Amino acid sequence: MAVRSGSQRDSPPPIARADGVTKRYRRGSEPGRVGRLFGRSTPPEVTALEDVSLAIGSNEIVGLAGPSGSGKSTLLHLLAGLELPSEGTVTFQGTDLGTLSTRKRTRLRLEHVGIVFQHFHLLDSLSARGNVALPLVELGVSKSERRHRATELLERVGLEDRVTHRPGELSGGEQQRVAIARALVTDPTLVIADEPTGELDTETGLTVLEQFERVADDRAVVLASHDQPTLDIADRVVRLRDGRIDEEATARAPSGTET
Ligand code: ADP
Ligand code: MG
Repeated sequence: MAVRSGSQRDSPPPIARADGVTKRYRRGSEPGRVGRLFGRSTPPEVTALEDVSLAIGSNEIVGLAGPSGSGKSTLLHLLAGLELPSEGTVTFQGTDLGTLSTRKRTRLRLEHVGIVFQHFHLLDSLSARGNVALPLVELGVSKSERRHRATELLERVGLEDRVTHRPGELSGGEQQRVAIARALVTDPTLVIADEPTGELDTETGLTVLEQFERVADDRAVVLASHDQPTLDIADRVVRLRDGRIDEEATARAPSGTET
């Protein structure tokens, strides 16, 4: 069993943590014409997450499970600093993200967080290498260094012979490996993966996961999925339901590696 956490005293401080985090989204203002016809008054807000607390240790792979709409993506976006909570705090390496200016928060994310999305989000106009190098452009890394690092990462995900291919010339599994290489090119402290195998067939998904597990080794990873083989690479799995941590289900299945 992959229990890594010792007592509070022994364990190093978490890389990222959410404390009592609630996230509400304001819905589009007025109900549409059809909505009005049916006498619908749009609720002003949706509570996507409610009072969620979670600490991510260094080198730990945490799986986030839960049905569609349970708040997985919202929690990932908050941990990545893409959004701020409505209540509660998100702390990254000891810094409360809510205290930073938007510019500083963006910079922190660029430097320390790698994100893999379900739909890859690659730019069609760029080669695989160009896509992987993109975060380094934003960080002001020199061109030769960018090429060097992007090529190296593509090699690590087994795409050394696809460096100059465009996304449209790659299979789904290859595109996701490019996205993984891009997420890791900045050598991030925390990797966020939102249903990284959601678009892939089972076999391709497993290949991609193998690459992911290998290259994300020695980093903190938070991985959302409702796919058990994907959750199996996690050290522990946290289950969400209706925006809250389902304590009972989480306790029942403390580790994705158990059968
Ligand atoms: P999951 O990733 O588990 O499917 P999400 O975090 O995407 O769940 O969504 C949780 C809830 O919050 C859902 O009810 C969803 O409709 C709502 N939600 C998510 N993002 C937004 C948004 N930008 N605006 C309004 N509602 C949202
Ligand atoms: Mg989602």
